[in-house]
Amino acid sequence: MQRWRMIAGVGLCVWAVGCAGPVRDTLYQTSTIDALLAGVYDGDLPLRALRKHGDLGIGTYDGLDGEMVLLDGRFYQVKADGKVYSPELHGETPFAAVCAFQPEATFAISKGANMTSVEAQIDREMPNQNQFCAIRIEGRFKAMRTRSVPRQKRPFPLLKEIAATQPVFDLENVAGTIVGFRCPPFAASVNVPGYHLHFLSQDRLRGGHILAFEMVTGTAQVDCLDRFVMQLPGTEDFATVDLATDRQQDLQSVEKEKPKR
Ligand SMILES: [Zn+2]
Repeated sequence: MQRWRMIAGVGLCVWAVGCAGPVRDTLYQTSTIDALLAGVYDGDLPLRALRKHGDLGIGTYDGLDGEMVLLDGRFYQVKADGKVYSPELHGETPFAAVCAFQPEATFAISKGANMTSVEAQIDREMPNQNQFCAIRIEGRFKAMRTRSVPRQKRPFPLLKEIAATQPVFDLENVAGTIVGFRCPPFAASVNVPGYHLHFLSQDRLRGGHILAFEMVTGTAQVDCLDRFVMQLPGTEDFATVDLATDRQQDLQSVEKEKPKR
């Protein structure tokens, strides 16, 4: 009886995804952040398939070819030259997380906020740290520091080796959108615990993975997600990569701003 109920549940879920669009309040993700840190860069999931699961998200592209921003159902690819491209939908991603964004809270960001204070404000508005949160912030920025990563060839280096020489972009007086997620601590090794945010300028010409910013004014929208679906890649690399090693230190060095040189 239990088993039949489970099968019926799975069937209904497949039906819901297949026929009625993405499931609400669900973070849908392909691969794990630790696999990406370990150099699993071959794309496995076409963008067209990923888009069935959401209209807002972040990730990277086949061969680690730049930073992904998915906004209002459109993919943007911020390459290592700092410019934004429109990727083909048959192209694939090795790592991405998306959701069908339906904000349940909207609030003004305090004037003159920086990255740390914006994150603290979202934490006050959304105190349940054990949920996933999707975030969209429209704003004007006095300064926005982003980075991207260049396309890689085999043999693939570790992500921390690539990030050590990543191109960094300093934008000034720019309007645009921050897109990303706050993931709970228990998601470590699968996704980035805490905040992971990408940027796209209003003119759709600049963007990247956010390292720091200073804001003038802005409005945040947040959607709390209480369901998590993970698609594992079918690649040989994913099948054989070591995912037992703790890579939290690598993650810190890759995701956060480097001390000034
Ligand atoms: Zn990123």
